Amino acid sequence: MSDSIEKVVIVGGGTAGWMTASVLARVMGPLIRIELIESDDIGTVGVGEATIPQIRLLLRVLGIDENDFLANTQGSIKLGIRFNNWGKLGDSYIHAFGELGRPLGMLSFYPYWLRARAAGDESSVWDYCLNAVAADQNKYEPMETFGNTGLTGIVPAYHFDASLVARYLRRLSEANGVVRTEGKVVDVSLHPESGFIESLALENGKAVDGDLFIDCSGFRGLLIEQALETGYEDWTHWLPCNRALAVPCESVEPLTPYTQSTAQEAGWQWRIPLQHRTGNGHVYSSEYLSDDEARVVLLKNLDGKPLADPRPIRFTTGRRKRFWNRNCVALGLASGFLEPLESTSIHLVQSGIDRLIKYFPDKAFDAATIDEFNRESIYEFESVRDFIVLHYHANERTDSPFWIDRREMSVPEPLTRKIELFRRTGRILHDDGDLFKEVAWVQVMLGQGIYPEQFHPLSERISEQQNTEFLGGLRQVIASRAASLSDHRDYLNKHCAAVEGT
Ligand SMILES: Cc1cc2nc3c(=O)[nH]c(=O)nc-3n(C[C@H](O)[C@H](O)[C@H](O)COP(=O)(O)OP(=O)(O)OC[C@H]3O[C@@H](n4cnc5c(N)ncnc54)[C@H](O)[C@@H]3O)c2cc1C
Repeated sequence: MSDSIEKVVIVGGGTAGWMTASVLARVMGPLIRIELIESDDIGTVGVGEATIPQIRLLLRVLGIDENDFLANTQGSIKLGIRFNNWGKLGDSYIHAFGELGRPLGMLSFYPYWLRARAAGDESSVWDYCLNAVAADQNKYEPMETFGNTGLTGIVPAYHFDASLVARYLRRLSEANGVVRTEGKVVDVSLHPESGFIESLALENGKAVDGDLFIDCSGFRGLLIEQALETGYEDWTHWLPCNRALAVPCESVEPLTPYTQSTAQEAGWQWRIPLQHRTGNGHVYSSEYLSDDEARVVLLKNLDGKPLADPRPIRFTTGRRKRFWNRNCVALGLASGFLEPLESTSIHLVQSGIDRLIKYFPDKAFDAATIDEFNRESIYEFESVRDFIVLHYHANERTDSPFWIDRREMSVPEPLTRKIELFRRTGRILHDDGDLFKEVAWVQVMLGQGIYPEQFHPLSERISEQQNTEFLGGLRQVIASRAASLSDHRDYLNKHCAAVEGT
């Protein structure tokens, strides 16, 4: 085809830039030339160390061996996120990956559990989730299937050092033909009529032209916003946290296979255990807490000695009005920001790359294609946003104005409907394309203290005795399998111990 895209220019060499370069080079390598511009003087955001299980698809597409990846990125295993103090002070629950129990007949597992609970059963819904039980015991071993039980095996994601991931993906990209240019973009030339990007001017005087430009320049949105003035939809009224302080600290044992999120007075604190250190950060709202107070909270709640001074980061939650504008596609922080409560940003980069490949344009840049890309991206961003807002809104805390305001705020209408339907009937509204499925919503709804008034009537097709046996059998098989798994640290030492010098 004569009007095929010949050259793609990526601006930015953070996680988003190198993920995009490595996947495009792998999938489209012979068809296009790829040049990535990054500036060591500017640097990357330097956070983004917890993922969700879809990250494993990225490794598969890139042909990366999991153990090699973990060994080169100080990586550890993540089986879910433990939320402390979110519903009420003293509460703790896990949003575990994987499944809860197994379906029976036409129903998923949890209606049977709800029915048993209504009859006085005191088991926790997490007793039926292998990821959750293994996480509690700091256990891990790869396990795709669970014998002939019909249960899902272990479903892992990873924690890793973000700067090592960028380095790893850079090596891979360059080996696959991506050209890296060191330099600062200081000007963007637009076509006088179409407004399309024609070329980028670097500080050293070099000009870089291309057909398709990918903006991975971080919060500044160098192309999508500064040059193309796309506009930003601000979601601060739903998610008012606008600052973070990040600090690494020394590791402590045991090496927990989960991210921890502890709600604080006006935000929350993350804890991400890697092989060589623990990453920590305090996400907070400057409307409710000063930077000095936030620093005190962060340092007081570390479980090892800090290894640096806390580093401040500022952000505004929301999204670009369009993710693709003219011949520019924004990925990563340049496209918008949702706080890392459910570790979704890296995944949103990944699904943006998939979508770009699905809708890869030619030089005509068909408007309908661009509209569809934007429609899907907006849907995905908004459905993740609603899941995050749920954590804030469904709280019973009375100890600080921040939490009282979050409970009393009005939330996006689809979320209101979801909460009401679950509260009344135990059903979850969701679309096939949603990132977070029923099992995720159920855990967070229950974890935040929303318990349904009813359960699905079909769960009464089996007798109470059969239901008790069904649940008891699942609990037992999961408990005994979890107990037999390896210790998380032992597993890493044996299969993917960090490569010296990383
Ligand atoms: C506090 C916080 C915690 C987070 N935690 C998580 C998490 O646990 N999990 C998760 O999935 N995500 C998380 N994220 C998001 C995650 O960090 C990002 O999605 C990811 O790092 C991608 O960032 P990026 O590559 O878009 O931007 P950056 O890392 O900021 O990279 C921008 C790049 O653009 C280059 N650049 C900028 N301007 C120019 C210029 N003029 N010329 C040349 N180059 C330029 C820079 O040099 C750099 O290479 C977190 C984000 C924040 C703020």
